[in-house]
Amino acid sequence: SPDPNLLVATGLCKCFGGIHAVDHAEISVARNSITGLIGPNGAGKTTLFNLLCNFIPPDQGRVIFDGEPISHLPPHQVALQGLLRTFQVPRVLSRLSVLENMLLAAPRQTGEQFWNSWLKPLRIRQEEQELRQRAWHLLESVGLAAKANDYAGALSGGQRKLLEMARVMMHRPRLVLLDEPAAGVNPTLINQICEYILQWNQQDGVTFLIIEHNMDVIMSLCHHIWVLAEGKNLANGSPSEIQTNPDVLRAYLGQ
Ligand code: ATP
Repeated sequence: SPDPNLLVATGLCKCFGGIHAVDHAEISVARNSITGLIGPNGAGKTTLFNLLCNFIPPDQGRVIFDGEPISHLPPHQVALQGLLRTFQVPRVLSRLSVLENMLLAAPRQTGEQFWNSWLKPLRIRQEEQELRQRAWHLLESVGLAAKANDYAGALSGGQRKLLEMARVMMHRPRLVLLDEPAAGVNPTLINQICEYILQWNQQDGVTFLIIEHNMDVIMSLCHHIWVLAEGKNLANGSPSEIQTNPDVLRAYLGQ
């Protein structure tokens, strides 16, 4: 595809009561990039994420993912297209093991097409084996293999963030929306999380769009940054452009 952008959203609007949480916002995410989405508290960043993957239907606007409109698809269909997201507060299933969390998330291919086939049980067994291998591999790569059989509820906040990211990777995503991956995470783990993001980006070609208040994380990871304020686009540019943009500085100083 000739379009250098994997995701393009235009004219997005969402009102809650009288509040314009997202107000004619646009965003684009270049293929294979790590792109940032920043803005003061209440700027509408999480709402924009919800609109991008249709967790909340937009009042207006459209979202194009890899050249195809996706605004009409429910979130699980969006996920099957390769667009995944994490949440500000990780949504792990506390009463299940870490490994079970990974396996439950995995999309299964052996659906309808093998329904009438004598091969079906074999295919399912093979698929489960592959998913298990992938789950172990991912848990190893984020340092959670030793916790595979622990309850997910026993993990620390930072470890839950890792589990959620690893779980998203079970889908072999093309674009991952990360909602504050560094929030409430200790500095050592923040560095590790940044390394995993870089590794998945560089080695697996995963594109990332990241909401984050930690500016060190944003400035060190991102190729391009979008700034939202009061639901509207305030600026977008390279990290150095954003760091010196007077409108951005003003928005952050709360003038
Ligand atoms: P933060 O950085 O603090 O997480 P944010 O930029 O992600 O903020 P949003 O959470 O998208 O901002 O919120 C934008 C605005 O929309 C806020 O005024 C918020 O109170 C409002 N809002 C968000 N979700 C809802 C909802 N479900 N119902 C009513 N108002 C909402």
